[in-house]
Amino acid sequence: MSKQYDVVVIGAGPGGYVAAIRCAQLGLKTACIDKWIGVDNRPALGGTCLNVGCIPSKALLESSAHYEDINHTFGEHGITASGVALDLAQMMARKDKVVSDLTQGIAGLFKANGVEWHQGHGKLLPKQQVAVTAHDGKQSVLEATHVILAPGSSSVEIAAAPLAEGVIVDSSGALAFDKVPQRLGVIGAGVIGLELGSVWRRLGSEVVLLEAQGSFLGAADEQIAKEALRQFKYQGLDIRLGARVTSCEMGETGVAVQYQDAEGEYTETVDKLIVAVGRRPNTEGLAADEVGLLLDEWGFIHVNEQCRTNQPSVYAIGDAVRGPMLAHKGSEEGVMVAEVIAGQKAEINYDTIPSVIYTHPEIAWAGVTEQALKAAGRDYNVGTFPFAASGRARAAGDSSGMVKVIADAVTDRVLGIHIIGAHCSELIAQAVIAMEMGASSEDLAMTVFAHPTLSESIHEAALAVDGRAIHIPNRKKRQ
Ligand code: FAD
Ligand code: AMP
Repeated sequence: MSKQYDVVVIGAGPGGYVAAIRCAQLGLKTACIDKWIGVDNRPALGGTCLNVGCIPSKALLESSAHYEDINHTFGEHGITASGVALDLAQMMARKDKVVSDLTQGIAGLFKANGVEWHQGHGKLLPKQQVAVTAHDGKQSVLEATHVILAPGSSSVEIAAAPLAEGVIVDSSGALAFDKVPQRLGVIGAGVIGLELGSVWRRLGSEVVLLEAQGSFLGAADEQIAKEALRQFKYQGLDIRLGARVTSCEMGETGVAVQYQDAEGEYTETVDKLIVAVGRRPNTEGLAADEVGLLLDEWGFIHVNEQCRTNQPSVYAIGDAVRGPMLAHKGSEEGVMVAEVIAGQKAEINYDTIPSVIYTHPEIAWAGVTEQALKAAGRDYNVGTFPFAASGRARAAGDSSGMVKVIADAVTDRVLGIHIIGAHCSELIAQAVIAMEMGASSEDLAMTVFAHPTLSESIHEAALAVDGRAIHIPNRKKRQ
């Protein structure tokens, strides 16, 4: 007899595991199927995010930032160190330990909440049945009242640069180099390409990023993206825009990467090449044809605003459905779906989902960009404040970047906050809370912020919307 559940979740990334835990909290009998094999060759929960995404990349960004600081920035603080050496194997071992501690933590949470973990591949069959193929090939069928699909995404591969073990790699391979490449190529100057390019540049690589688009970071506010490009180039990231990679040739000493731009065709020879050209949903083999699960032309599962698919009692969340491919977006969808299944009213405000790029300086934003408002013909006011005028940023010796607050010209409601600067992955939460509460720039201006903090720059940028910033000369004169 097949086992019966209230909810079966396929996929245990930040979408699926959060959905499963929330279902269990709500008293639903829940199973979660996942096929991931971790670094230690054992099944691991947490999906892309914990195993080869958010967490290991942030571990290496942190370690490489320490290395860069000790070599380049501590001197200014009067601290000198001799005999500084890089132990890459230790750095990687630390990263792997962070990952395994966290993935085991999810296993502990499953146990504590009574979520059953099935290790293997899950396939949706008609009538909310799910076939499970365990890693040893053993087959079983689970029956559910509701199914949540959270299969996540994988790196896109391109014919121009087929992966070659240890040399032409995707983001997962780039998190596990055993030696610092002398010359490193990155195809794609998107979020992942920039973060991984930064890690290896800090550790000593010469990094060339080849980006097909003529513009840089198209989703970010243009003013912020322009500042980011300036900063990254100053740091030594060789970012070439409008450069489309057309083919690669493996040689004795590395990879010859051919690319073209408006002026002509070029070859760049690198020791290692990272392909970071985007991600595609893992929907192949996810549902039997008889189910009739509706996918779009790119393979994303079609869902409505409550993440319901075209099949009754089947939901889909995370990277495999529309919207930004971000861990927190998938997790919130997981919570929403669990609560909907439990009969509660639940929704997500997709307008305030924050985006963060964990380079240095960091880039973070929530809400709309100035260029989007211009294109929509909406009237707005803008206030900006540079971290160079922040006492705390100056004291830290890390004062590049700015805060930009955009507010509706008529209602003064905050429409977007865009930041480039140190620690703005943390600062952006203030923007999200303000926007979630429907705050005006005046509300932010009237709020008392502690001194000296980086957060004061949000206060000053809000004051600047109305020409009232204290620590910069204002272009607008308040009446
Ligand atoms: P995933 O995390 O991809 O998990 C899906 C899981 O389902 C996987 O374990 C997979 O093996 C399993 N699965 C798939 N199909 C089946 C099946 N049929 N049967 C059983 N199991 C199945 N996002 C951020 O928000 N912040 C960041 O800093 C960030 N950094 C990133 C850095 C890198 C290098 C990468 C690659 C991604 C990063 N992301 C980041 C994106 C983030 O990892 C994803 O948005 C997030 O993991 C998506 O969650 P998910 O649950 O939808 O899918
Ligand atoms: P993201 O989707 O943010 O991960 O960014 C991926 C980037 O890769 C996009 O900006 C694409 O324009 C870029 N890209 C895709 N294919 C190529 C290619 N053949 N050569 C250079 N850049 C590419």
